[in-house]
Amino acid sequence: MKLLLLILPALVALAQPAPPTVLFEDVTVIDAEGVPALAGVSVLVQDGRIRTIGKRVRAPKGAARVNGGGKFLMYGLSDMHVHLRGGQELVEDNAAWLPLFLANGVTTIRDMGGDLGEHVMRWRGEVAAGRREGPRILTAGPKLDGPKPVWPGSIPIATPEEGRAAVRKVKVSGADFVKVYFSFVSSEVHAAILDEARKLKLEVTGHLPNNMSLEEAAGRGQHIEHFHYSLSDGASRAAAEIRASYKGPPSLAELTRNGARAFEAFDTTLLPGLATRLRQNRTWLTTTLLVAGRRQNLPPDRHAGHPLRKYLFPGIWKTWDLDTGRRRAPTPASANAYAERRRTVRSALAALHRDGVSLMAGSDCGASNNFAWPGWSLHEELEEVVASGLAPLDALRLATRAPARFLREERTRGSIAAGRIADLVLLDANPLESIANTRLIAGVMARGRWYDRAALDAKLRAVEDAAARKGSGK
Ligand SMILES: [Zn+2]
Repeated sequence: MKLLLLILPALVALAQPAPPTVLFEDVTVIDAEGVPALAGVSVLVQDGRIRTIGKRVRAPKGAARVNGGGKFLMYGLSDMHVHLRGGQELVEDNAAWLPLFLANGVTTIRDMGGDLGEHVMRWRGEVAAGRREGPRILTAGPKLDGPKPVWPGSIPIATPEEGRAAVRKVKVSGADFVKVYFSFVSSEVHAAILDEARKLKLEVTGHLPNNMSLEEAAGRGQHIEHFHYSLSDGASRAAAEIRASYKGPPSLAELTRNGARAFEAFDTTLLPGLATRLRQNRTWLTTTLLVAGRRQNLPPDRHAGHPLRKYLFPGIWKTWDLDTGRRRAPTPASANAYAERRRTVRSALAALHRDGVSLMAGSDCGASNNFAWPGWSLHEELEEVVASGLAPLDALRLATRAPARFLREERTRGSIAAGRIADLVLLDANPLESIANTRLIAGVMARGRWYDRAALDAKLRAVEDAAARKGSGK
């Protein structure tokens, strides 16, 4: 009996057909070890791993060959900030996003928590077992929030004990990390959460609480989502006063007023000091530059006729529609303030990057995060990063090597080298010449399984058809 139990998992593993051997020939490898681009090489993929890279690699018998002539092979992209969420009625709508990520070369996503935890964890397992096509999923499970959570599905926390219990609950649920979403939190509760998470070996990431300094949050080991939120704390002369003014969760009006005040008192001479503190604390910042702007500069049809809308199920669209969703259309004043802030945020991103702060790319796409199209929005995010002043290679690394480093997976992921898991994207044009070329996808490999352009188009069509059956575009 004991022996049978040992053999069973092996049999289950064998039941999955091994990915075929594939040889990419005469391709230019982007971000090869030590060089930005390595031209005219072959890359052999076997059993889901990159085996060999070299000028003369012979195709083993039965290997599929992909002609890489004039093409560029980069590592699969990670979108480190997405949300699979929106309630039980949006389960299918969210599941339909998984092939969309894949078709866009996004081979890993980090779900930042929502209300579909069990489903997300099921999808995570199915993808890993090869039973569902999609990106590898990492998930926060439920978010940790104050006594009155902002989002459904979050765990409400009022005391240090509840904080510790919530972290244990997240651990038991099988989540990959802890997401905190406090708009206001006491030091004691925050410290308890970070301490419990450290004991359970879970990373903690999330928003910077409004009443907490970056110093304090990062000093306890919290990583920061939406790095631009933390800027107003780390590099504004008004930050300490604003922080101290909060006696409880701030209202939206307070946040808007104080956000404007913080950015008015923004002082770029504070950035090097901020960078030093972030480096010392080994804090990771996630960019989500794109999503805020999506609601500010709207076309007259408010994206109703957007060419990508056909891939959304109507339930998700409803959360994006500015009349039915939770976010309203911008006012001229909010659009102006956004344009002003965007300049500050962009130059600060470039400064922090120059000073060696650890950054990762995230698009923040999800239900209720209007017009950040799943998969496509990561490419747009990288374009924002380049517009901020980073070189295309550095922007690419924010979605390849950096997430691997954050996850302590550099030996198995993040770059094209022997031994790495074969998550790859073949491009028709050089992404180092223009970051927009990451959109010109000739094929995607996920864990060694190759999808050429026709296969990716078939996937897109299948989602489009399913969305149409649900009544998208109506
Ligand atoms: Zn988010």
